[in-house]
Amino acid sequence: MPYHGWKTDSEFPCTGEIAISKQATRRERRSWWQRLSHWREDRQLRRLAVSAEQWQQALGDWAVYRRYSPEQQRRIQELALRLLLRKHLVAVNGAELDDHLRLRIAGMAVVPVLELGLDWYDRWQTLILYDGPFVAEHSWEDEYGIVHQEVSERSGEAWERGPVVLSLEDVCHSGQGDGYNVVIHELAHTLDMRDASANGAPPLHPGMDAAAWQHDFAAAWNDLARRADNDEPLPVDDYALEDPAEFFAVLSETFFELPESLQTAWPAVYRHLTGFYRQDPLSSRP
Ligand code: ZN
Repeated sequence: MPYHGWKTDSEFPCTGEIAISKQATRRERRSWWQRLSHWREDRQLRRLAVSAEQWQQALGDWAVYRRYSPEQQRRIQELALRLLLRKHLVAVNGAELDDHLRLRIAGMAVVPVLELGLDWYDRWQTLILYDGPFVAEHSWEDEYGIVHQEVSERSGEAWERGPVVLSLEDVCHSGQGDGYNVVIHELAHTLDMRDASANGAPPLHPGMDAAAWQHDFAAAWNDLARRADNDEPLPVDDYALEDPAEFFAVLSETFFELPESLQTAWPAVYRHLTGFYRQDPLSSRP
């Protein structure tokens, strides 16, 4: 399957003034409400007393977290608590959430937006946690107009404008050093969906080159497909080849979990991701 992230120039993500002026208008319109919300949130935040020991138990074994400086870890902690105050974490189907899991999930969730800000998650409000994989039913139409029903087991799922669904079992398997992280994966989908449907590219920042992104991601896609066909070792999970949206989500997971692997295989793609996430996991190593 060829890479088909964007098809025409008009589908390129916003890279300039349009994106900025839209944000400015929204900020002005909601400023009084946002000020009130932030005041409330700051008050609630001061009342939450999470000890250093609790943070250590929740995130201390996660290599990605350990890579950050003490100051960055403090920012991750604050952002994670703000996420818990803003979003609803709902356990269903027998899943049980305790404080340890809440802190671990929130800590993992905010790493991608550490330098972008929590507003990048404002399109979703609810995180649903299943006990074990959950069964998703989808229908899709083929080129002859025939609608197919598909039932599949999933480890996670993100919808445009929410909610985000995660299997608790897969959350527990995340961040173990093998590149897998369902929390980062699903939240990367929500970033991708901010400018349109999931197409393998989030809205890029001013100054980022959308054509170069498209070119370099397509080259990496072709290289991964070739390696998979030849049974060569793969720098990322070949689930990435499902479609460009999965490609971006899997590469985002690898960017944070196994940055060397991504940087060695596709340095240009790695550079695009440092530009988008405004972080360089390889340079923040202790
Ligand atoms: Zn996915």
